[in-house]
Amino acid sequence: MDKEIFELERRELERQNGGIELIASENYPSKSVRLAAGSIFTAKYAEGYPGRRYYGGCEIVDELENLAIERCKALFGVAFANVQPHSGSQANFAAYRSMLNAGDKILSLTLNDGGHLTHGSSVSFSANTYAFAFYPLGEDGRLDYGIIREKIFEEKPKLLLAGYSAYPFDIDFAKMRAIVDEYNAATGSSCFFMVDMAHIAGQVAAKKCQNPCDYADVVTSTTHKTLRGPRGGLILTNRADLAKKIDSAVFPYSQGGPLEHIIAAKAVAFKEASTEGFKKYYDHVLENTKACSDELVRLGCKSSGTENHLFLLDTIASFGINGLEAQTRLGQVGITVNKNMIHGDQLSPKYTSGIRVGFAAATSRGCTKEQAEEIGRLIYDALSSPNPDLDAIKERVSHLAGSWLNIAELEY
Ligand SMILES: *Cc1c(COP(=O)(O)O)cnc(C)c1O
Repeated sequence: MDKEIFELERRELERQNGGIELIASENYPSKSVRLAAGSIFTAKYAEGYPGRRYYGGCEIVDELENLAIERCKALFGVAFANVQPHSGSQANFAAYRSMLNAGDKILSLTLNDGGHLTHGSSVSFSANTYAFAFYPLGEDGRLDYGIIREKIFEEKPKLLLAGYSAYPFDIDFAKMRAIVDEYNAATGSSCFFMVDMAHIAGQVAAKKCQNPCDYADVVTSTTHKTLRGPRGGLILTNRADLAKKIDSAVFPYSQGGPLEHIIAAKAVAFKEASTEGFKKYYDHVLENTKACSDELVRLGCKSSGTENHLFLLDTIASFGINGLEAQTRLGQVGITVNKNMIHGDQLSPKYTSGIRVGFAAATSRGCTKEQAEEIGRLIYDALSSPNPDLDAIKERVSHLAGSWLNIAELEY
């Protein structure tokens, strides 16, 4: 009936199948997740929460949303879950609202060191509603808990925020909890600790790092990044007093009717992520990311190194070209990455000194360790010479991507 949209979808599938996707925030959901997202639940209005809706006919969506909540709680080992946020940004909006008043101060990572727009950027609601102070990374590009401790006593925030968009190392949530507890005990304050695990939700689900739910007052996430669900968000807490506030901050404060079809798809993703198969998938994600980073280092490049699904490649130090040029050149051979500020960057966010490289998506298509190393060589070949044979590299990229699973048919 709609040839134009059909044709655009066909072309997008061809684009996705034909290239190597290394954007660290992207992933491919399973066919089951996509079918649930396209289900008839899209037709149902269900403002409110299971058992307390503003509309009739919600008996089945109540069962659906309860099932999604139960699966989510079991997956992350947490007492309360709100699965209605339409996105990670919406989740952060509601989470802040559940703990803070307008004007309260949030202590967050310096944005150029890997924070998200909702963590205090002037172009987002965050910096226009709350006051922000920032902690930088240490000299070595890693979190320095001594600096965070100093900053919290100096800035006296109402909330300490952890969880980032471009941080390649493990985060010690236990240590951050201890800093907040020490500060609260010493000053009689009631500073909250919040973790935005948007990037590492899959790693948490696979139990390959500390679980922030064990330490934070509130945890937010996206569901479409490493978790491999549909595009969406969620909010978790172990605190009954905050659970109610979170619910009302999502609906009716900041959202209307929930996307029950997306909640159905989230429920499928939570089930998939609780399997042994997902844990194996995640072992491969970690192995592939490290293999590609190591191969680039072996070739003489400067990488951040990695303990998760991404690393930062310093393209100025490695090849003498900025991040924007590197992103464009790689795009020409069918490798998709994004330019990214690196620690101590001297260039503006428009250019940047590096790129962010992630393996969650490629691994979902079946990328092996040897292929991840080959991808390191492809990146090197495309960026190391001023006049590379782009056609030849593009041919190698298509050959590799062509050997992988069709994105339209993926299971988890
Ligand atoms: C991606 C991301 C978000 C926002 O997710 P959207 O669904 O794009 O709104 C929030 N926080 C962090 C740390 C992220 O990486």
